[in-house]
Parts: sequence; C-alpha cells; structure tokens
Amino acid sequence: MYVNPAAVRLLGAHDASELLGKPVLDIVHPDFRESVRRRVTTGIIENKNLPLMEEKLLRLDGVTIDVEVAALPIEYDGIPAMQDVVRDITEQKKLQQELLQSQKMQSIGTLAGGIAHDFNNILGIILGYTSLIKKNKLNVQKLSESIAAINLAVQRGAALVRQIMTFARKTDASFEPLNLEDLIQELFSMLQQTFPKIITFKKIFPKDIPFILADRTQIHQSLLNLCVNARDAMPHGGSIIIKVEKQTGEQLKVQFPTADQDSYICISVTDSGEGMNETTRGRVFEPFFTTKAKGKGTGLGLSVVYGVVQSHHGFINVESELGYGTTFRLYFPIPNINEKPVDSRQVKSFEIGGTETILLVEDEELLIEMVSFLLESKGYKVFVAQDGAEAIEVYKKHIQEIALVLTDMGLPTMTGMEEFKKLKEIDPNVKVILASGYFEPDMKADLLKAGAKGFLQKPYMSDVILQTLREVLDKKSI
Ligand code: ADP
Ligand code: MG
Repeated sequence: MYVNPAAVRLLGAHDASELLGKPVLDIVHPDFRESVRRRVTTGIIENKNLPLMEEKLLRLDGVTIDVEVAALPIEYDGIPAMQDVVRDITEQKKLQQELLQSQKMQSIGTLAGGIAHDFNNILGIILGYTSLIKKNKLNVQKLSESIAAINLAVQRGAALVRQIMTFARKTDASFEPLNLEDLIQELFSMLQQTFPKIITFKKIFPKDIPFILADRTQIHQSLLNLCVNARDAMPHGGSIIIKVEKQTGEQLKVQFPTADQDSYICISVTDSGEGMNETTRGRVFEPFFTTKAKGKGTGLGLSVVYGVVQSHHGFINVESELGYGTTFRLYFPIPNINEKPVDSRQVKSFEIGGTETILLVEDEELLIEMVSFLLESKGYKVFVAQDGAEAIEVYKKHIQEIALVLTDMGLPTMTGMEEFKKLKEIDPNVKVILASGYFEPDMKADLLKAGAKGFLQKPYMSDVILQTLREVLDKKSI
C-alpha cells in the first residue's frame, strides 16, 4: 500500500509503482517466507507490536540483502494493516562474518602451538616405547607394560582429538535421557584412580532428581574438564564436590533472563583450590585463555564446557575468590516428557567373531596389517584393497563371496564416498561400513540415506570394529 523513498532505494526499484500492489512476500527471501507470513498473521490477529527480526529480502534486481525488521499494527485507510520499519544490516553482517573468520584464524594459530605440543608428547611416548620393543631387550613383563603405555598414549591422543572436535562443534550430539547419578559415579571412580590421593571426592545427589536429555559423552567430557581444572588448582590437595539439585526457571531468570523452562537441573562442581582473581574469572570461558605453563594448559577446557552447555540450551556461571576455591554451576532444562532413562550398565553382549569374507579398503600399510590381523584372528576371511579403484575391481571379482566392505573415507585418488557410490551401482544391496576421523553432523544422515550401513570412528578400536561388523552383518537386508 505504501513505501517511502528509502524503501524504494533499498529494494532496488526505480519508483514506488514497481512495488505497490504486489504481495509483500515477493520481496522476502524464500527461506524466510513462512516465518514472515506467520509473524505478520499473528501480529494482525493479536494486534501486537512485533519484536525485531533478522531476515533476508530479495531486491528487484535479484540481490539478497540482510535486514532487521520491526513491525507494528496500524490502521491504513480504515483497514487493519502492518507497518514495517526495515533497516539494512548487510554491511554489518559482512563485518561480523569477517570478524568471526579472523578470530578463527587467530584461534588456529594458537591451537597449532598448544595442541601440537601435546601431540608431540604423545608421539614421543609411543616412539620411545616402540624403539624399546624393537631393540628386543624386554622381558614379557616389560613388554606388556610398554604396550599398555602405548595404548594409554593413543587414548590420550584420541581424547585430545575429541576435545578439539567438540570445541569446533564437529561431533554430532546425540540427546538421550541421561542418568546423572550413574555418570557422576563413573567419573569419580575413574578420577579416583588417576588423580593424586590427596584429592578427595564427594557427591551430593538427592533422591528426586529427574533425568535430563543430554549427550552422554559431552556431559562426561564437560564434568571431566571441570574436575581436571579443580585438580590443577589444588596442587597441595583438597576436595572436589559435585552437587546436583533442582531449580525453578523463576529462580534462574534473575540471573539468566532467557531461562524460560519450568525447571532446571543444577550441577555444581566445587573445589577447595586456589581460586581466581577477577581478571581471570572474567576470561575463563574464552577459547585458548590459560594461565598455565606451555604444555600444561590449552585453554580449551572451559570453552568446550561452555559450548556443550549452550548446545543443551543450558546456562553456566562461575563463583570464585582467590584463596577460597571455585564453584562452577551448570544448568540444564528438565524435559517435560516421561521417557525412562536407558540403564547405562546394560551392556549388549555380542558374538564378536565370524566366518564371512570382508573387503578392507585402507591406504595406510600399518592399519591394513592391524585390521586384517584382527579380523583374521576372529575367523573372518579378508580381502584388501588400497584404493577405491582396486576395491571396485576386487568387489566385482568376488561379489558372491564378499559379505561386507569396510572402507576408509579418506583414500587417495577416489574418495571413499565415490567408491561407495560405485559399489552401490554394482550391487544395490552391498553392505558398506565407512570409517573416518570425523563425520560432519549432517554427513552421517546423508550417508545413511544413501544406503551406508554403519560408521566407524577412527582411530580404529578393536572392540568397536568387531562389534560394528557383527551388528551390520546380522542386520537383515531388506
Ligand atoms: P586450561 O585448563 O587448559 O588452562 P581451561 O579453559 O580449562 O583451560 O581453563 C582456563 C583457565 O581458567 C585456567 O588456566 C585457570 O586459570 C582458570 N581456571 C579454570 N578452572 C579453575 C579452577 N577450578 N580453579 C582456579 N582456576 C581455574
Ligand atoms: Mg582445563
């Protein structure tokens, strides 16, 4: 019905007549049409001012612009109408993106420094022990100790990778009803074995605590990070107390105005350590902020915790004073549904070996050797291919025999993905398990849709390989 001259310019029209009389949704970017339509309808029906919304508009010349829109219901010529005030924020958005990008670059620089150091230590340990073993001067006892040490180092490396991936939000969260008491118990038993004995643990867990919907691994990682920090803050010993309690959204709103759920679970981790001064306290959640010596801290721990809490729609705060210890509080919304938590102690038992024939596609000599040795020792017959082209050749030749293809995603020349597609063309029923160091959150879903039967997270772990193989082999193909 009406546009002012600024709107005419903003929308790339020559004059108002090009815009008047046209449906307003024509100039809204398709991604936003539905939400704008709903917003305007509610606004008119409820006769309410509409809060600011960021959306994208399509100019008449087809260019997309970012805008911020406020709207209020008015009367125009005696008819109920909406008046929109539109602000162009395209430039601002662009600057934000650039800032984010440059922060990312900065982070990567720091990351390289901190993490590389940790990785080098890990590799050093592995190298040290392997050269010991190579020299062949070890008795059986020493040999098994060395292997255990290598194993531990590898797990540390894998944990570090997980940490980085969680930080970069590259791992996909899987939300499930979570029994916090089990989880904390498990964490404590692990820590009691690894932390110095001068640190004591206490758990305060009332009876009526409901479960939360959460990603078990991520919550575990977060509490672990908090406990590790607590340990570092107590070089002369002390106590770590984890307390769980219920809180209403009303109580929480005072501190976090966006707390709009009815009730929350609060997990607090308290230590009796050295505490922090105000400057440190203000920066603890910053990625790569650390007060620890090189090689001791990466500054990632708390930013991971922060990210995890956010992805769970929760909140976090910290209370600390120099010399008086520290308390971190994590708040998670309590879901309204009544699902039963899965009992974490219920482990499925698997028959782990088999006699089927497996095609292993992997380019790393050592891994080929390790995995085929593992599979053969469990009764499988193994064909090996070192790249996608070879895999397809072998598969064609032994199509009747091969029950399953286990392939790496990162292969030379032809990616595992392309190879997978080709295999599907040859045999639509082919069973393929894809292995990779990490999967983008959406990637797994896409691959499943494309017919992948399973995934393996690298580094390969024997139990997991065997279990996944059996699971996929035993699934009836439809
Ligand atoms: P890192 O532990 O690698 O330094 P974090 O993100 O886990 O990285 O922690 C950042 C900083 O916050 C630490 O270096 C330390 O100064 C401070 N901090 C974290 N937790 C505690 C705590 N429980 N007591 C004292 N200081 C802490
Ligand atoms: Mg830390």
